Amino acid sequence: MPKSFDAFLSDALEEIELAGLTRRLTPLETPQLPLVRRGDVMVVNFSSNDYLGLAAHPAIRDAAMGEWERGGFGSGASRLICGTMTAHEELEVSIARFKRTPAALAFHSGYAAALGTIPAICGKDDVIIMDKLSHACLIDAARLSGAVLRVFPHNDLNKLESHLAWASRKHPQARVLIVVESVYSMDGDLAPLREIVDLKERYGAWLFLDEAHAVGVLGPSGGGLAEELGIGDRIEVQMGTLGKALGAHGAYVAGSRVLRDYLINRARSFIFSTAPPAPVAAAATKAIEIAQSPEGGRLRECLWENIRNLAAELQAPKPESAIIPHILGPENAATSASTELLQKGFLVAAIRFPTVAKGAARLRFTVTSLHHPDQIRSLGEVFRNLSFSASSV
Ligand SMILES: *Cc1c(COP(=O)(O)O)cnc(C)c1O
Repeated sequence: MPKSFDAFLSDALEEIELAGLTRRLTPLETPQLPLVRRGDVMVVNFSSNDYLGLAAHPAIRDAAMGEWERGGFGSGASRLICGTMTAHEELEVSIARFKRTPAALAFHSGYAAALGTIPAICGKDDVIIMDKLSHACLIDAARLSGAVLRVFPHNDLNKLESHLAWASRKHPQARVLIVVESVYSMDGDLAPLREIVDLKERYGAWLFLDEAHAVGVLGPSGGGLAEELGIGDRIEVQMGTLGKALGAHGAYVAGSRVLRDYLINRARSFIFSTAPPAPVAAAATKAIEIAQSPEGGRLRECLWENIRNLAAELQAPKPESAIIPHILGPENAATSASTELLQKGFLVAAIRFPTVAKGAARLRFTVTSLHHPDQIRSLGEVFRNLSFSASSV
């Protein structure tokens, strides 16, 4: 007799608990701002991906409300069934302008964008070569595609090149897709994107770039790392999220017109899912407008000022993004450090396996344009006086 369903679940949970890896939901009772209420206490939030501080922006809320009053909330069906709403079309026009690509397609989330796009491009006769630190949605998408999967050590161009050489030798007929992020979500460092683009062109491979933590943060108008380096037109697929620095919700794939037409026909997470509510699309359109505006430029300046101050307070190396990790190693070291910080008024997420490798647990600090210099200074003081050794990297 197999275990009962509930016995199976609770035994599995117990194992997770023994490994120090239990995850729990904690109520958050305030909007996504630097100061948030968790339970009875107010804490300073150093964990959000709302880098530009747009999540509670009144103009974005008004855009959503306006659309709601005009057309209600629900979208009724997939965009292929009853027709596509103006709000989604407008969003995609503004994404394409923002990303300086001929076209774009909006998705429910970054997760759905990856899961829809990668298996649409690659199948079992193809090869996907991805960075070891790629986000779970990229790994899941690559597995779902059924393609032959090769992983290279983080940012290791030599190993990437040897995989490319291997693929052209062993699978000369295959499509070869390289999958990387521009800012790595748990390490905060950048991909050597220019070199990766050079390599993929030399080997006739294609590139899927996930800009989830770069959009809004990098580039003269917040278009991401591809914009900063001026190489967007050499990248086949640029994906990004609308729910992090842009403070709205959803995600996009930007590229050629034919890519958009193809995904409308082949991306299953797009085809077989009810369209996002129009107010959500309107909010994202407004967020993109703000990110590109002079106001967005000022927010980006504040953000970078805060990033530099935070890195100095944490005695971290020169930051490349709004994400500053402090690696502690053991899973419970990260959890206790995070708990101690919380007791002292600072919300800093402990990141553990399977989000990062076993034994590479860490505190993941993020900062937004809205943090006050005093909040960053007091975090630094508390951090340097924590009971664990702050220099234990
Ligand atoms: C958050 C994230 C995603 C998923 O985007 P959502 O819109 O939150 O689903 C994809 N890739 C990376 C690197 C991310 O950090």
